Amino acid sequence: MTINTDHYLRVNELKNYLYCPRTSYYSLCLSLERETDLSKAGHEAELTTKRQMKRRKRALHAVHEGDRVFDVALVSHVYEIVGRLDEMVVTEKGVYLIDYKDTDKDHGYWHVQMYAYQLAALEMGYNVLGCYVYSIPKKTYRALTFKAQHHQTFLRIRQELARMIADERCPQPIDHIGKCRVCQYVRFCNDVF
Ligand code: SF4
Repeated sequence: MTINTDHYLRVNELKNYLYCPRTSYYSLCLSLERETDLSKAGHEAELTTKRQMKRRKRALHAVHEGDRVFDVALVSHVYEIVGRLDEMVVTEKGVYLIDYKDTDKDHGYWHVQMYAYQLAALEMGYNVLGCYVYSIPKKTYRALTFKAQHHQTFLRIRQELARMIADERCPQPIDHIGKCRVCQYVRFCNDVF
């Protein structure tokens, strides 16, 4: 039986919601997808890194030997989320999850996003041995570990997103002008400047 996943949330949307809930509203309720030079540059950096990483024989120094798989589709039917993980290292004992980032600063998104990937991977039957973020500018790996609070945060965001979509309610703007200045939706927000 094929399960329809069209309405499932993308894992990236959790990150966007944490950045500013309104970006999720524009994307999910109004179907507005906008790209700025900044977001394009970040995307390009990730693509370039992926190409370089695929060529490197032993990419993840922090992880044991294993088969590397790229752009791994992950899905959780329990939480109705889908995502595409940058890299998975498959070992005899289990797998390591790796996500590439075009920044070395964690603005509080990394754990929630990776936690969602881990939830999906576990549900799909993978034995997850560890999770890492690869910082493109620093060329370093950072291991992520999770606490109960990450599960609570994940559930809260998942629920808030579902409610926002159901109500089609535009959230309040965030109180962080620096984020608005580089936001791809700034032209739609006439109440932030
Ligand atoms: S401009 Fe500011 S308030 Fe509007 S969507 Fe972007 S970050 Fe959110």
